[in-house]
Amino acid sequence: MKSLNVDIAITTDRSMMTNHHRREFLGFLATGPAMYVPEEVWMYLCCPKPEIDEFGRPVEAPYGLRKIEAALQDAGFEAHIIDPDYLGKYVDKVKILMIGHHDFFAFGPPSSEWWLITGKEPVNRKSFFKLMESESIKKMRQRGVKVVVGGPAAWQWLWEPELVEKWGIDVIVEGEADEVIIDVARKILNGEEVPRYISVGAYESPPIDRIPLIKGASVNGLVEIMRGCPRGCKFCSVTLRPLRHIPIDRILKEIEVNKGFGINGAILHSEDILLYGARGIEVNEEALIRLHDAVTKSVKSVAWAHASLAAIVYSQRKYKLITKITDMIYSRLDQNYLGVEVGIETGSPRLAKIIMPAKSAPFKAEEWPDIVEEAFAIMHDHRIIPAATFILGFPGEEPDDVIKTIELLDRLKNYRSLIVPMLFVPMGILKSEEGGVVGMKIMQEHAEAMRKAFWHTVTWAEDIVYNFYMKGLRYEPLKFIIKIFLWYAKKKMSELEKKLLPKFSGKELSLKV
Ligand code: SF4
Repeated sequence: MKSLNVDIAITTDRSMMTNHHRREFLGFLATGPAMYVPEEVWMYLCCPKPEIDEFGRPVEAPYGLRKIEAALQDAGFEAHIIDPDYLGKYVDKVKILMIGHHDFFAFGPPSSEWWLITGKEPVNRKSFFKLMESESIKKMRQRGVKVVVGGPAAWQWLWEPELVEKWGIDVIVEGEADEVIIDVARKILNGEEVPRYISVGAYESPPIDRIPLIKGASVNGLVEIMRGCPRGCKFCSVTLRPLRHIPIDRILKEIEVNKGFGINGAILHSEDILLYGARGIEVNEEALIRLHDAVTKSVKSVAWAHASLAAIVYSQRKYKLITKITDMIYSRLDQNYLGVEVGIETGSPRLAKIIMPAKSAPFKAEEWPDIVEEAFAIMHDHRIIPAATFILGFPGEEPDDVIKTIELLDRLKNYRSLIVPMLFVPMGILKSEEGGVVGMKIMQEHAEAMRKAFWHTVTWAEDIVYNFYMKGLRYEPLKFIIKIFLWYAKKKMSELEKKLLPKFSGKELSLKV
């Protein structure tokens, strides 16, 4: 294999450096421990190694790493994303090693939830430890290579001070790093002091014209169309960032970059795609039609990263927009469904009013369960397949709030969807002074909500996997493994229901860190 001039190597572990067999939802499996199959099989199932070029660079890499690579290359640095298996080639060249991740230590959702429930370390955490303990990184550290970490999970390093020391982390960058990373790299290469912890505040976030365009392909063609979110949910950090709508010409330029590397699909990333071009939370029909018109003329498949349930209902009621957009996508492209992530969070209007008063806007928080059901019905009718989450254990949650969530799950059972529970983990006290235990008391109502979500998801998973996500012969081996996994999971859950569930009430689940 040839090697490049690389002063700055950018990388991450295998749970991130993968295209998940071009099926993003498989990435969810990397947030849990291997179940019923050997870990290598599990990792192959969710995180196969991507195609690598002659220099050890992945053809597709996480979008966030691509932005950092582009920012550094634009500033004149020899910076490249290197696959973790090929770092060894650059041990003697690299001066700075940059590592990004969206869940370094599996403290984020849903990794921490699977960890709490199963008591086993998720594979993404194990994979990251494997990277950090690898011979290549050890040798780089011995050579005095500076190590910079960042990305959406940068905060997690604050809860692992021993690992910061053990692994010789020199700089932790939290927040949008598109601009600040240039200064960090320049100072390190000039031998100047750099603070160990750098936080990029909301008002230091770069404006659109200073956000670099990616130069290499992003995983599965992900391109951002917005940054920030105006809804202000109390448990969410995204909402702290200023709202920016990326102009269509910039979106198309990044799509062209992806196409240049053979990635002909696009995942449109935003926190709420239906607010693209919106004035506040007033849906902008014209901007959304223009966006989808331009994108569907340019790619072979489209997916949405996130949408809000309220905007789905509002845009359909007012403009029949879900019908118009899906008609456009299904008639122009060779696809018959659209994937998206959505947040239910709670079925309790009382709790919705407290923790996410604007999530239902322009509708009232009191209407939240009805809005959720209507949005699910609209998505079902338009073959939009949501991967939905709800959260248990919010501060101030009462048993009746969870009962309302259970009732809502009942109302959603006829709508094609995957629904995953998440446990609210108060990150601020994730690591207590006494010895690092965090947890929540799982009550009978929580167990029932999780049970309902499990059966909902495994029931619909078969329809979704076989009829939508994995059509075609090339997916047969993967479908077979998933079939066995679903069969085994259902069998185990049935046994659990008979034997253990009655004893589940009041169980304290805790995660030692
Ligand atoms: S709608 Fe979603 S992204 Fe926006 S603030 Fe609420 S949880 Fe965060």
